[in-house]
Amino acid sequence: MPDSNNPLLDFSSLPRFEGIKPEHIEVGLDQVLAQNRAQIEKVASSGQTATWESFIQPLEDTDEKLDRFWSPVSHLHAVMDSDAMRKAYEACLPKLSDYSTEVSQDKRLFDGYQAVANSDEFTELSQAQKKIIENALRDFRLSGVDLEPEAKQRFKEISQELTQLTNKFEQNILDATNAWSMHVTDEKKLVGLPESALAVARQTAEQEELPGWKFTLHAPSFIPFMTYADNVQARREFYEAYTTRASDQGPHAWQWDNSDLMLQILRLRKEEAALIGFENYAEYSMATKMARDAAQAEEFLLELIPKSKPAAEKEIAELRTFAKEKFSVENLESWDLAYYSEKLRQQRYDFTQEDVRPYFPVDKVLRGMFEVVGRLFGISVQAADNVQQWHKDVQFFDIKDESSALRGQFYVDLYARPHKRGGAWMADCISRKRISDGKVQTPVAFLTCNFTPPVGDKPALLTHDEVTTLFHEFGHGLHHMLTRIDYVSVAGISGVAWDAVELPSQFLENWCWEREALDIISGHVDTGEPLPDELLTKMRAAKNFQAAMQMVRQLEFSIFDLRLHSGFDADDDMSIQQLLDSVRDEVAVVKPPAFNRFQHSFSHIFAGGYAAGYYSYKWAEVLSADAFSKFEEDGIFNADTGRSFLGNILEKGGSQEPMELFVAFRGREPTVDALLRHSGLAAA
Ligand code: ZN
Repeated sequence: MPDSNNPLLDFSSLPRFEGIKPEHIEVGLDQVLAQNRAQIEKVASSGQTATWESFIQPLEDTDEKLDRFWSPVSHLHAVMDSDAMRKAYEACLPKLSDYSTEVSQDKRLFDGYQAVANSDEFTELSQAQKKIIENALRDFRLSGVDLEPEAKQRFKEISQELTQLTNKFEQNILDATNAWSMHVTDEKKLVGLPESALAVARQTAEQEELPGWKFTLHAPSFIPFMTYADNVQARREFYEAYTTRASDQGPHAWQWDNSDLMLQILRLRKEEAALIGFENYAEYSMATKMARDAAQAEEFLLELIPKSKPAAEKEIAELRTFAKEKFSVENLESWDLAYYSEKLRQQRYDFTQEDVRPYFPVDKVLRGMFEVVGRLFGISVQAADNVQQWHKDVQFFDIKDESSALRGQFYVDLYARPHKRGGAWMADCISRKRISDGKVQTPVAFLTCNFTPPVGDKPALLTHDEVTTLFHEFGHGLHHMLTRIDYVSVAGISGVAWDAVELPSQFLENWCWEREALDIISGHVDTGEPLPDELLTKMRAAKNFQAAMQMVRQLEFSIFDLRLHSGFDADDDMSIQQLLDSVRDEVAVVKPPAFNRFQHSFSHIFAGGYAAGYYSYKWAEVLSADAFSKFEEDGIFNADTGRSFLGNILEKGGSQEPMELFVAFRGREPTVDALLRHSGLAAA
């Protein structure tokens, strides 16, 4: 029986945030899963009689219902954390994972999709519907649906085991990160650190009733320390502790060692891929990606080496010369890189983020950003009232198109606060779909950032990095909200290949660097004056500072990841360290010290979704840079080009292959030229 008092089960409109309590979560999930299971049983035996309306649409609806239920829960878990919330959330995770394995291995459902694919009806379905069926058949196979019972059982065991091992991998990093700290009582040890970093360290010490300052391996403490602390011995200690976390090296050697877990994870992934019929895990991973196969992804990376490595060598040589001439440093060590790089950056470009901030009051930036996308895509964005929020700082907006039709709605939650997860992201709240009476459901998005909150009655002033972040997330948001696809599985960002999903977001960032756009999004907090040319010139010059060194580092990680999941054999003589060393011989311009165990905390690939997928960052950057280069040719506010991007990319969501969509917009396949040019590496 549906519980009318549980706000999470009211799907009639926007989430009722003011009424949602932790105790609604697990009981609500139980109800949704029970209803979904009943619905699945009802249609599962359709067999050869399955049609879109009788079989697939009801299954789409069960998926959508679960997403709709879970979306505000996972959002609140991320932005309004509490012990009760965390407990309720964690109680749901195994239930969700059981349900998902059960559905993805249900042979009856697979047969139903197959029946629709083979029926006469198939040819009459829309492109989006066909894509949903193709994706579903692919994903059932990748989950082991058509394996013999024994193999199927083994696949299931591997999935469960991998969940535990990857979780343990992450736990070890967390424990190792928390175990080390540096307590300082002698201020002389801290020369060079900015007041903001000292304040954080003082507060950390005070919380434990210690005198002086306490530094930790968490990013807000570690990064400023490595960048600014003059004390080379302390930097070295910090560096060693950080780069040996969860390994056989460093101050906590063996204590949370991930070495064995990494090998186990790789073995299981290989076995999993083999069960489904793939040569290795990289090929398995590529089955859902835009890249054709692992060889194409690796070739893409290898081709970038000669285009970036010579420039990277030049950059590191410059840094060495600078450190030697100005500071008499004979050997530039790994723990010196960030420190002397910052000194060089300051000397060369002569500005800081603090000089830029006054030109970006938050309201000016937001309204300006809406105007920019308005000119590009013919939409207008307006604030809307009377919408329930989870926090007083949250704003809510409507997006309308040129015919005044409501196309999307979104929440914006801009500022950092306690109990809110760090970083910035876009998440879907409600997806677009056709409702039976011919109407469509309006898509709704969450945009979450962690900007510095306003102080006193002054407006919040953003750094240029923060402005870029806002554009990035809004790019994801527009992809989700401006979709014209009426089926949730491929509407907006749903069903978009992992290596193509960053296209709209990275693409929109480009406007933050254009004079014409900056005139709209900037205005000095006191005078209203837009960002001065002189400052913009410095910012642009600094944009590509050490860009080649950053690129070869990304290439090193990506190639290591691909080879680890393809040629590498966990039971062979070569160790993971030897593989990494061999990649470094090929790509890197900086060799870390022998104790460095970076790979032991590379959770993107061992515990996150980036296994044999780390290359996606660079891959999508090629797409976004090349897409933007069309605007460089046509004019950055060319309305036709804007409408073409809207129609060919944003509106189409996951309904077609990303390469087809890209070609429809660009008139050809992507090339790396624009990315190289934007990184200052053209014709290098
Ligand atoms: Zn992104």
